[in-house]
Parts: sequence; structure tokens; C-alpha cells
Amino acid sequence: MMKQKMKFETAVIHEGYDSSVHHDSLATPLYQTSTYSFANAEQGEARFAGEQDGNIYSRLGNPTVRVLEQRMAEIEGGGGALAFGSGMAAVSAILVYLTKAGDHVLCSRGIYGCTFGLLEIMQEKYGITHSLIAMTTEEQIEQAIRPETKVIYVETPINPTMELVNLRAVEAAAKKYGLRVVVDNTFSSPYLQNPLEFGADFVLHSATKYLNGHGDVIGGVLVGADAEEMQTIRMTVQKDFGGIMSPFDAWLLIRGLKTLHVRMDRHIDNAEKIVAFLHGEQAVKRILYPFDAGHPQMSIAKNQMRRGGGLISFELEGGKKQAQEFLNALSLIKIAVSLGDAETLIQHPATMTHAVVPPEERERMGISDSLVRLSVGLENVEDLMADLEQAFAQIKSNLQEI
Ligand SMILES: *Cc1c(COP(=O)(O)O)cnc(C)c1O
Repeated sequence: MMKQKMKFETAVIHEGYDSSVHHDSLATPLYQTSTYSFANAEQGEARFAGEQDGNIYSRLGNPTVRVLEQRMAEIEGGGGALAFGSGMAAVSAILVYLTKAGDHVLCSRGIYGCTFGLLEIMQEKYGITHSLIAMTTEEQIEQAIRPETKVIYVETPINPTMELVNLRAVEAAAKKYGLRVVVDNTFSSPYLQNPLEFGADFVLHSATKYLNGHGDVIGGVLVGADAEEMQTIRMTVQKDFGGIMSPFDAWLLIRGLKTLHVRMDRHIDNAEKIVAFLHGEQAVKRILYPFDAGHPQMSIAKNQMRRGGGLISFELEGGKKQAQEFLNALSLIKIAVSLGDAETLIQHPATMTHAVVPPEERERMGISDSLVRLSVGLENVEDLMADLEQAFAQIKSNLQEI
């Protein structure tokens, strides 16, 4: 009998785990071991030669980590997956794997700050260049492709401006020019968007965020369309750079992932209510949310995402001082970077996540001094709105005093 493909909500709970080979343990066991003993010398030889499947050493694979990898490959629709010690370890592994000296990487106009930092290091040390462009149309992408371009690297929605990259346009341009496509899918999670379905070769996540969802793990996952190529990456850049995920973090992630669909729907239910609430607030100048009717690329969002996500950015009246006063006036909502946790978090990109970006560049990207980013949590939304409301009232009374 052919195994029927599990639906998303089932796969996040069951995929990749067979209790019958784990003493019938319902929960995935934590294999907290660095190495594995061979039955005899010949078995060791066969495993090193790749002639026999089996464990060798945990930097090359671990049974707990493997369950997470198989589950992630399945829910992103890939042929294989690799778990890393951080999102940045996944980013650096794939960029090192895909490029050599002299190549060019074409990036979406906004990318995670440390990804930008990594690309700067690659440019300075190895002559691997990059450029950042808007990717709404295929033309915009084609115009920026150079003879030495090898990779299109995108994030969508872009942090923190919620600008979108048109994944269909990326697919078309990449096909035409034979380029590899990598998508950082952290903001959407596999529940909302599956870039491999849009022709991407690789999709990666900071597992620190929605995948884990409980704010207690730093991790990364890379999923690839081609199983064999993923095995090559496992046995080259992952093994030799060594940025692997620990078994304990994989164990926590397996637990977190089981509720991904339930959590995401609640994050988004809350976010939609907060977007509507912010529309009625006069201290709010501009709201950035992919499924908001005012978003200039809403139709692109609806073509590639199932729902709008749990992140909202908004601009306040005033400047940096008012934004900081607003953050300070909140009490239930915590001031913190990171996202996708049960707790609602707020941050000020101009002085926090994007402080390293030069002011002119920030302005070009649409990150003003009064922009704040909210990662909507799982609390009761009435409590969240009450906290926002009292903070708005405080900054308004401050404004009147001037
Ligand atoms: C957090 C984040 C990363 C980096 O992940 P770490 O787990 O912190 O290394 C990469 N991309 C995006 C979009 C992120 O939000």
C-alpha cells in the first residue's frame, strides 16, 4: 500500500518519526551523544565508505536531529533538509556552497542584517559581490543580472518594511538565466508560504523564530529541492564548517513544531485585529502589513502567502523620541528583538535591528526613525490592544505638553 501523503497539520506532528524503532517512545527521544560505537572495525570502515547507513559522529548526523530534518523537508515540500546551530549558520552554509571567487549574488532590497554583513565579508575577502534591488517585476530582476550572477537570494516579506518579493518573477528570471534561488522564509514560516513550490532551489529558516515559537532556542534549517544535493551539502560545507544543531535544540524544536499551525493561526487572528485597531488610531501615520488593503503589493502577497503573518510594522507621528517614548510606555508588550514567540515583542528598527545600516540607506529602504515593528504574540488580543491604547494615550499627552 502506498503511504498517503500527510497533510500539513499531521506532518508537523508525525512526519519522520517511527516509534517502533525507538522502544515505542511516543515522544521523540533525545539522543544526547557525540559519537556512536561500531560493532566491529569492518562496520566502521563500511560506514565511513558510505556503503552502510548508520551513525558515525553527531556532527555528521544524529537521530534526534534527523527527525527534525525529515519533518522540515516534508512540510516545505523539499527532498532533504539540514539543521544548523543558528539561522546564520544555514545562511552562510548555502552561500558558501553556491558561490566561488568572482561570482555575484543578486539580493532583494532588504535582507537580514547579518546576512548583509556576511555578504560584505565575502565581498571583501573573496571578491564575491552582491547587489540589492526591488523585485516586484521580472524586468527589474533581469536588468540587474550580470554575467557573473549565480544566485538570487531573497527574503519576503522584507524585514521590517513588509515589502514583498514577487516569487513568480524570481522564478521566471532564474529559469531564463540558469540561476539558483534561495529564499529566507523565516517571516512566513512553512505554514504560510512554500517557496520551493515557486521554483526556489533552497528555502531556509531561522528556526529561532516561528518554527520553535517559544523563545528558548537559536537554530536554523535549510531545505533543498534535491535530496542528493542536500546530502552533498551535509558532507561538505555543513560537516567541514561545523555549524550543526545540537540534539537538545532539535528536541525542543520537534516539540515546538507540533503546534506551528495552531500558533500561526492565533498569531495572525490577533495581528488582523490589531491592524484594524491601528487604523483607528490617529497617532499612527502608516501601517505596513502584507494583507492590509493599503499595502501596495497586496495582490503579490495574496498570490504567494496563505495569510498575512504575525508581524506588523507601523510609523508613528513624530520621530525617534516619540517612538522611544511609545516603547517605554508599553507594559505587557516587551521591548525585544526576535519574533514569533508567544510573548508580543516590539522593537525600534532604526536604533536596534537596522542600526548598522547607514541613515541614507535606511531612508531608501523606508525605515524611518518613527517606525516600530510588532511581533504579535499569543496573548488575549484585548489585553494587547489595551496596552497599546494606554501607550498611545501617554505619547499624546506628552505631545500636547510640547
Ligand atoms: C533571525 C533571522 C535570521 C538569523 O537567524 P538566527 O537564528 O538569529 O541566526 C535570518 N533571517 C531572518 C529573516 C531572521 O529573522
